[in-house]
Amino acid sequence: MFQKMANNELDKFGEKIIEGYRLSDDELRALLSLGSEEELEKLYYVARKVRDHFFGNRVFLNCFIYFSTYCKNQCTFCYYNCKNEIKRYRLTPEEVRDTCKVLKGLGFHMVDLTMGEDPYYHDEPGRFVEMVRTVKEELGLPIMVSPGVMDNSTLLELKRNGANFLALYQETYDRELYAKLRVGQSFDGRAGSRLFAKENGYCVEDGLLTGVGNDIESTITSLRGMEANNPDMVRVMTFLPQEGTPLADFQDSSNLSELKIIAVQRLMFPDRLIPASLDLEGIDGMVYRLNAGANIVTSILPPDSRLEGVANYDRELEERDRSITSVILRLESMGMEPASQADFEKILGC
Ligand code: SF4
Repeated sequence: MFQKMANNELDKFGEKIIEGYRLSDDELRALLSLGSEEELEKLYYVARKVRDHFFGNRVFLNCFIYFSTYCKNQCTFCYYNCKNEIKRYRLTPEEVRDTCKVLKGLGFHMVDLTMGEDPYYHDEPGRFVEMVRTVKEELGLPIMVSPGVMDNSTLLELKRNGANFLALYQETYDRELYAKLRVGQSFDGRAGSRLFAKENGYCVEDGLLTGVGNDIESTITSLRGMEANNPDMVRVMTFLPQEGTPLADFQDSSNLSELKIIAVQRLMFPDRLIPASLDLEGIDGMVYRLNAGANIVTSILPPDSRLEGVANYDRELEERDRSITSVILRLESMGMEPASQADFEKILGC
């Protein structure tokens, strides 16, 4: 699709997207089929053009606090599924408060409170509400909650106590694939929870997993499924086989790379947040993702933290380089910089 386009034609294509052009399924198919480095570089070029139109060289920074790795579910792709015999932790309220004290003034735009579907919190949701209130009191920053599917009244209570964003990834809108990934969990219940949050004043994040048996058609289904729900943040993450899980030996045969999908997402969701996660390839990986059109760095850990990430490319490493200081230094070397908090608040007001 881009093979014969010169730079001025690529610029025109980017302008068309900025003016509101909506890609057809055939165009999505063509973009997701791109294979050569030259074509992909052109795709990333257009994605950056579109991103820069809306956000300039400014990037948002999201702090990740994985406060409980307990979970009652059996997602086949996930290291923390309840069947996996691993060491788990659950931070105490005091530990969460101490973590907040360390984060003060470091320059994060938002804090993401993530857990598995831990029965300790899901059976007594007031405990999670209390945690959100504490974090708001300590930091005064926007809060993203990533607790899995919680009931609607708890979502409202969380909102009243300071939650701004709900992250709840569908992983795929291909129902057959969903049933293989999120075993025993309701597809509609998950989508409905995100929709309820959106209708009740949350910003919402949706996400899809690639490299896990999704082909081009199922990826288009997923992108369209996301689009229909009007998310404020859209994520794609590469499946990384996890020891001890049913998909530990899964090998992907598609060429649906995360970077290609990030760039396509930028063309479909021009003015939305798209994460560059540190969780798969650290700070070098952040650079690739930003160069493909992303604009918010996620999975930045609190300083000196031993808390978990999700896919955790660095689980076995002695030194983990996931601090906000390293992120900002690298951004500067790319000619980018942290956005202002006021810019982020504008997004929250959307
Ligand atoms: S993806 Fe989330 S809900 Fe599924 S097993 Fe992992 S932590 Fe639990």
